[in-house]
Amino acid sequence: MLPNMINLSNFEILDMKESEYDYRFLIKSNTPPPSHCPKCGTFPNLYKHGKKDQLFFDLPMHGKRVGLITKRQRYRCLECKETFFEDLPDMDVSRSVTNRLIDWIQQASLEKTFTSTKPCSTIKTYVPPVS
Ligand SMILES: [Zn+2]
Repeated sequence: MLPNMINLSNFEILDMKESEYDYRFLIKSNTPPPSHCPKCGTFPNLYKHGKKDQLFFDLPMHGKRVGLITKRQRYRCLECKETFFEDLPDMDVSRSVTNRLIDWIQQASLEKTFTSTKPCSTIKTYVPPVS
């Protein structure tokens, strides 16, 4: 197992690739499976229903962009037949970024307002699309 370079204790790093501008980590969530169905509340009548690769952007490291790829588990509830994805701690799943990246962007944009009027390309790169 690789040392946890990304410093997210809820995830395990399975693989890491580095290129000129990017780090790409393949990560796996350590959190236990859901205890109940979030749609109907039934305890637990769920089965695993495939996985989906999802990419999340994280704080830049050593001046490179950091992408975290995780195979997100999907479940189906046998009671209500609904499907849903596992919860991912530390992630803003609707914007495909980590929560700490959002915090960082918010802080950086506040600082920018007071210190400089020049646009910062690094920050712009990381502004998530508005969904
Ligand atoms: Zn259900």
